[in-house]
Amino acid sequence: MGDKFGPQRSPGTDSYWHPATDPLTMSDPTRLSCPDCGAEYADRWRCECGHPLEFARRPLPEGPAPDPATFDAREGLWAFTEFLPVEQRVSLGEGMTPLQSAPDWDAEFKLEYVFPTGSFKDRGATTTLSRAVELGVEKVVEDSSGNAGAAIATYAARAGVDAEIYVPASVKDSKLRAIEAAGATPVRIEGSRQDVTDACVDAAVGADGEGTDAWYASHAWNPAFFAGTATFAYETALQRDWAAPDAVVTPLGHGTLFLGAYRGFRALEAAGWIDEIPRLYGARPPATPPSSPNSTATQAARTRWPTASRSGIPSRRTRSSTPSTRPTATRSRSMRWPSGTNSTGSTARGSTPSRRVRSPPRRSRSCAPAARSTRRRT
Ligand SMILES: [Zn+2]
Repeated sequence: MGDKFGPQRSPGTDSYWHPATDPLTMSDPTRLSCPDCGAEYADRWRCECGHPLEFARRPLPEGPAPDPATFDAREGLWAFTEFLPVEQRVSLGEGMTPLQSAPDWDAEFKLEYVFPTGSFKDRGATTTLSRAVELGVEKVVEDSSGNAGAAIATYAARAGVDAEIYVPASVKDSKLRAIEAAGATPVRIEGSRQDVTDACVDAAVGADGEGTDAWYASHAWNPAFFAGTATFAYETALQRDWAAPDAVVTPLGHGTLFLGAYRGFRALEAAGWIDEIPRLYGARPPATPPSSPNSTATQAARTRWPTASRSGIPSRRTRSSTPSTRPTATRSRSMRWPSGTNSTGSTARGSTPSRRVRSPPRRSRSCAPAARSTRRRT
């Protein structure tokens, strides 16, 4: 896997493209490129330099934002094909989750548990498995301690692709059952979470590093997954008549929803469909250890946030910056995430976070997976 064509453009260059003016069609799987060193590949799970890869071409529609009434909710998140670098090949009718108003909070909550497998991970699973089918993959491997594994397993089953899900030996039975119910093979690994990832990567690249018959469908590394989670932003903006929220709060684990939301809002801004990018806040339970400086999310964030002046994220971070400080605006402005909320993006039923916020913010702020709602366009 992974033919290399060498650097072809300067790192950090925006690579949005407009299908109407590009002779290539979406039936050609989009190549991957490294935003750090510029290398390009037909496909690879990460760059030879160690950096996460991106799609070399990221579609962007031309023209003004369409009338929201023209969007067919039955198409789910695949209604936004103009922004997606993969074609729909595997779907379970996912997306267009409700954006529910909470007037007492001056906020809106996006109900991300309304997905086929119960979490926002389906956003990334449908695009990742679509990419896998596009590439002719027959077997995927993924490492997960829960929802991502269930999502990849379920969409692999839908695609008719074999799946092995590497999980910690201590994985919850409910997560294990979800993986097994989809027909995937769970592989329990003793040791740390990193040991689980390492075992999964070994299964994909092989002892000689030349690759195996397994394709790494990683929710933390595969750019197709982030292309899927970016639809959170497209849906949110559409449901607000193309008025971006003032701020968005997402739960933060690997950062797949957080990063996807940022990419999505950036793409919307680049397309001219929204005026500004919301401030983004990542929330995590106090007991959760901070993101690893080497995590995919933080590595990806280093190069994908060039002008995030309004995202609550300092712009132009360098590679030597401390990455764990970027996404975690946890508890900023006295906000605490409710204990009943998990990292799937779902505000679990019955966990309406009304009692854990100490004082209502003066300025509108979003709770998420939700979007706060004061800055509607008139
Ligand atoms: Zn590179």
